[in-house]
Amino acid sequence: MKILAYIPDEDWIEQILGAVEDIEGELTAFVLNEKLAETAVKRFDKVYLAKIERFELNTVREAVKQVLKEYNPDILLAPSTNKGRAVAGTFMGLTDAAGVSDVIRIELEGESMVLERLVYGGTAKARLKMHPPLSICISPGYFKMENVLDKPGEVIEVNVSMPDVETVFKPREVSENDPTKADVVVAAGRGVKDEKDMEMIKELAKALGGAWSVTRPLAADYGWADSWIGISGIVVSPKIYIAVGISGQPHHMMGARNSKIIISINKDPNAPIFEETDYGIVGDLYKVIPKILEKLREG
Ligand SMILES: Cc1cc2nc3c(=O)[nH]c(=O)nc-3n(C[C@H](O)[C@H](O)[C@H](O)COP(=O)(O)OP(=O)(O)OC[C@H]3O[C@@H](n4cnc5c(N)ncnc54)[C@H](O)[C@@H]3O)c2cc1C
Repeated sequence: MKILAYIPDEDWIEQILGAVEDIEGELTAFVLNEKLAETAVKRFDKVYLAKIERFELNTVREAVKQVLKEYNPDILLAPSTNKGRAVAGTFMGLTDAAGVSDVIRIELEGESMVLERLVYGGTAKARLKMHPPLSICISPGYFKMENVLDKPGEVIEVNVSMPDVETVFKPREVSENDPTKADVVVAAGRGVKDEKDMEMIKELAKALGGAWSVTRPLAADYGWADSWIGISGIVVSPKIYIAVGISGQPHHMMGARNSKIIISINKDPNAPIFEETDYGIVGDLYKVIPKILEKLREG
């Protein structure tokens, strides 16, 4: 099996390697900047590098086309992100490949691939048996190769030029709070009644050396955060996930289920989140959180 993997940044190297860890074959990377190529070449046998200043779809398409002239993969593997899906779609447009996104498990069964993805808002898993050529986009946070070995790979440059169109990009503000990388994540739900009460959630996250996040209504409806955890948001996989005033709807839990330990604080003993909780506190968060903070301040 020949696999071409689009790697957008360093964080995706271990995830891409983890996704195809059990599949024997040739794994080649496709990257768009030189620094990333230098890192990727230690992990992949071959790295195709198209040096482009910014992600401009026509240029990316041209780069994929150039790679396909030399390398004919059975599978294009990419992250299930906007850019990853764009590269995957480009591959599909240039070949006869079918495409599947949001994949959380990949197996080889004879000549076929068995791909698993979550459906119905994360309440069920679908297993799809498909034949290469395929374009597969993997969900963030589901795969990780633990022991990555150094390889003496080679970088092959493909030449593409950017069009004469000036595109202005406004970079997103970088926040130090990154729940996707933290060992402890404290997440707030609609049990938190006021934006100012988010301060105690943030204080708890800080005291535990972690990051904070929210459920979708708090971000999308109230505007208290830029992102949220769940099927339509980010996926977290911390060692400890603390859900504060969160009911535990499948849409949300899809983004939190990868956590090693789930701790929940909810005043309703029948809240669905307790079904998925390792340690649960039935109580009013406005009483429980100040008590925990008091203990943490005492040291
Ligand atoms: C297509 C689609 C995609 C979606 N994607 C996402 C997603 O990615 N992420 C996401 O989060 N949601 C998503 N949702 C919304 C999701 O279905 C739920 O509506 C949402 O997760 C509920 O958020 P919540 O738990 O904060 O609120 P609620 O369900 O209202 O739960 C609040 C909880 O707080 C408890 N509570 C109240 N007061 C207190 C108190 N004082 N102390 C302790 N506990 C208290 C209550 O008992 C309750 O269990 C999506 C919905 C749709 C339709």
